[in-house]
Amino acid sequence: MKLVFLGPPGAGKGTQANLLSRECGIPHISTGDIFRENIKNNTELGKLAKSYTDRGLLCPDEVTNRMVEKRLKERDCEKGFILDGYPRTIPQAEFLYKIIKLDKVIDFSLPDDIIVERISGRRTCAACQTSYHIRYNKPKKADTCDKCQGKLVQREDERPEVIMKRIEVYNLQTSPLIDFYKKKGLLSSIDARQGIEDIWHSVKKELKI
Ligand SMILES: [Zn+2]
Repeated sequence: MKLVFLGPPGAGKGTQANLLSRECGIPHISTGDIFRENIKNNTELGKLAKSYTDRGLLCPDEVTNRMVEKRLKERDCEKGFILDGYPRTIPQAEFLYKIIKLDKVIDFSLPDDIIVERISGRRTCAACQTSYHIRYNKPKKADTCDKCQGKLVQREDERPEVIMKRIEVYNLQTSPLIDFYKKKGLLSSIDARQGIEDIWHSVKKELKI
C-alpha cells in the first residue's frame, strides 16, 4: 500500500501513520527523518540540504525530491509506505506522481478552531517533559506535574498566535495539493475531529483492511 498522509498540525496523522505502519508492516516515512538521516550520515544530498538550511533557506524541491526518491527505493518500501510531510508543494507532488503509483492520499481534516484548541491546551512539565492537556488530559493539580510536581508550561510554538500562523502556512501549502489529488481521483478525506480510536477505525475502513 503506497500512501500519502496530509493533515494540519494537531490532526493526529503521525499517530495514525504509526498505527498503520505496525498493522501493515510498512514504513512510516516522515521528511524530517529523511533529512536528519541524510545529514547524520553526511551523504551528498545531506550536505547539499544542509548548505541551504544553514543559511536559513528552504531546501529546494529538487534536493528534497531526490532524497525521497532514494528512500523509497530502499528494500523496506517494497510492500508500500506511508509518506508524512511530503509532498508539500505542487512540483513535489508532480515529481512523486511521475516516479510512483500511489494507492491513496488520505487527508485528515480538522477545522482551524479545533486545531487551536487542541494544540494551545497542551502543557509540558518543565522538569520531566510529561505532557498534559488542560481539557483532555488534565493534571490532578492545575499547572503541576502529577509525576514529579514540576511546573507545567506552554511551549512557545503551542501559543495560539503561533498556531494560527502555522495553520495559515499549512492551508496555503496544502489546498493546492488537495485539488491536485482530487483531480487524480486519489483523495480520501477523514474527519479528524473524532478520537484516536474512531479515526483509526475510519482509516481501516477507507483502506479496506
Ligand atoms: Zn514532571
